[in-house]
Amino acid sequence: MQQTIAGTTRQDRLLEVLACPRCHARLDPSLACAVCGTTGRRDGDRLDFGGFGEGELTADPLNRIKELVKTRLHRLYPAAIRLLSPVQERPGLVAPFLRSFDLDRDLVADFGCGTHRRDERVLCLDGGSYGNVDVVTDLRRLPLADGSLAGGVSIAVLEHVPDPAAHIAEMHRVLRPGGRMLVFVPFMQPFHASPYDFQRFTEVGLREQFGAFEVLGVRVGAGPTSGMLWVLQEWLAMVLSLGSKRLYRLILPLTWLLSPLKLLDLLLVHHPMAAQAASGFVIEVRKPA
Ligand SMILES: [Zn+2]
Repeated sequence: MQQTIAGTTRQDRLLEVLACPRCHARLDPSLACAVCGTTGRRDGDRLDFGGFGEGELTADPLNRIKELVKTRLHRLYPAAIRLLSPVQERPGLVAPFLRSFDLDRDLVADFGCGTHRRDERVLCLDGGSYGNVDVVTDLRRLPLADGSLAGGVSIAVLEHVPDPAAHIAEMHRVLRPGGRMLVFVPFMQPFHASPYDFQRFTEVGLREQFGAFEVLGVRVGAGPTSGMLWVLQEWLAMVLSLGSKRLYRLILPLTWLLSPLKLLDLLLVHHPMAAQAASGFVIEVRKPA
């Protein structure tokens, strides 16, 4: 992997806050815990504490294709999704949040980054070992010391875990008092495994999940057109495939031609009732000081 000055800094800062994912004792660069014996391993610049198994990433047929595309396209994958997906993310969600930190000083992590690298100074954590990932880990057991992060983002991750409360508790543990998280979750979206898909969130349900934090705000993160469009694409592929799973899989990509309609959400996210059928919500929270 190419080393940049910022990249080196990111790795060095990671080593300063490294802790055993099981017992949270400080870990030295050998990655072996002197207290409980848990070990990680190095894979180039990447630290690996065990993420998804190969079987988990290939269990769902659509996710199998997604994983193949992610591995082939690497950082182009997020751009491809932005183009083809029926979901129009509200502009200016993540970048302004990151700009609210001094990233040269504040350590901020992307919890479940996938193939995204949002900034060279942001720590990339994921269960998959994609090229951009700094730490491969179970997100419920982070190899980070208590209170080690100034902030974090979690974008479209919590629907894919069976126990969001455990993930949120771990975010709370690794944030320093006053540290902030930005979290995007879906509300009106069809099933999409990555590698699994377990639940959706309403606005009040989301506030409830983050009860241990101070909620700074909840906004519509993707509007009702996105909510309707994805369902419509699934519906069209089902109606036109006349009961054939094979035909459904051929027709579904053709329905992506309708995806540009999602641009209507640039207006509709501002409707006072947009939360009724929003595709997703974004919550910003702060760990009480
Ligand atoms: Zn340990």
